[in-house]
Amino acid sequence: MPRGGLQSRAEQLSTLLRLAHVRFTSDAVGRLLETLEDELANRPFDSDEASLVRVTRRDYDEARKLPADLVAEVARAGTVARPAWEKARRDEKFSLFEPYLVKNVELNRRIADAIGYEDRPYDALLNRSEPGLKTAELEAIFAELKRAIVPLVADIARHADAVDDRVLYRGFDPDLQVSYALETVKRLGYDLERGRQDISTHPFSTAFGPGDVRITTRVSRDFFNECLFGSIHESGHAMYNQGMGQNIDRTPLWGGASPGVHESQSRLWENLVGRSFPFWRHFYPSLRSVFQEPLRGVDEEGFYRAVNRSYPSFIRVEADEVTYNMHVLLRFELENEMLEGALKVKDLPEAWDARFKSYLGLTVPNDREGALQDIHWSYVSFGIFPGYTIGNLIGAQLMEKIRVELPDLNAQIERGEFAALLSWLRKNVHRHGRKFTPNELMERATGKPLTAKPWIAYVQKKFGALYGLNEARKAAP
Ligand code: ZN
Repeated sequence: MPRGGLQSRAEQLSTLLRLAHVRFTSDAVGRLLETLEDELANRPFDSDEASLVRVTRRDYDEARKLPADLVAEVARAGTVARPAWEKARRDEKFSLFEPYLVKNVELNRRIADAIGYEDRPYDALLNRSEPGLKTAELEAIFAELKRAIVPLVADIARHADAVDDRVLYRGFDPDLQVSYALETVKRLGYDLERGRQDISTHPFSTAFGPGDVRITTRVSRDFFNECLFGSIHESGHAMYNQGMGQNIDRTPLWGGASPGVHESQSRLWENLVGRSFPFWRHFYPSLRSVFQEPLRGVDEEGFYRAVNRSYPSFIRVEADEVTYNMHVLLRFELENEMLEGALKVKDLPEAWDARFKSYLGLTVPNDREGALQDIHWSYVSFGIFPGYTIGNLIGAQLMEKIRVELPDLNAQIERGEFAALLSWLRKNVHRHGRKFTPNELMERATGKPLTAKPWIAYVQKKFGALYGLNEARKAAP
């Protein structure tokens, strides 16, 4: 869209969302829901019919609390804040974005007040993105993560020389990278009869129904990880959408259970599979035959180590597995503080920098690499960021269960076989769409609600081995 289209697009979106909102929240829909609730009272909880009515009721009750004017204002504010954020980021000047963020904080506060909450305003926002989760529960999870990660990051820093990733910067032909990435995601199970891959500045996946689920990727000659791991990540989102049943297509049950559950699928494929040693046992020979020159003298183990190098960095989307959740924690805390009025928007960059220093030990050089890096705060909604960490945790929790049920998973991956893994995910996660809340889904799939323990155990084991930390600890008195 040309820049000049912005104002009209903001008004159009605002009108469309207002109309959809007014129709959905009408008394007539309420009466239909009541009738169906009576008729379906005896259906099992997980049946399509009972789930359809239960989830629509949740959406309806929430939407009824939001005045149409507020919905329209949120849509408009999000559209006009976007270019202001882009300019502020380009000029590395937070003050240019500040008035828009002040407005967005106020709108988030109004949304929270309209929906209502018992303890914390953030609960109301979080419940819209991750239904059933409370702010206090997340704070406890983050505290547990912090206790595990901060010392691990410091330990890794002391052994930083153990992993060398210079091979990733040796120059990889972009066209060959894109085609190699596409071949790889096809092998994982991304169905091109119902999908396609294109190039974009920021990778994403988008779904128009189970029959049309697309991914985009970006590619850099000078940094290998971007294209392949970005493509695997997006294909994880896309396989989730492709795995939703026709029975829920074009109903309110279609779509991901939450941003966190969606992210669990992308991160599971990207990291737990794509950054595993068995994966590279299988793929490295073919990678080396495509990129002979840059990979000269590097064996599969060296390459596996390179793609897993962990080090504190400024940008969340480029962060490694260990440091990633600290980026999310920081945003979760700052959103809460702005929402509750404990932090003024104008003081955000300072608060960001101070916390960054304390969590990751780095001094933020400018707002572009600090508080202005993410697009999220330009489109109003708070409460989305925690989903990135929830996704990491869910991915590891599912994987722990998968390894019990598929004990030879590593051998399968080493043979390039992903069908059993994909069909487990189809059966336990994908086909349900929005039927269950994140915790309901985890209870059904793993027998436990969301927990950080499997993820913590996973990173401690994996990075302990990569950096020789366990031996170092054993040797210490
Ligand atoms: Zn993602």
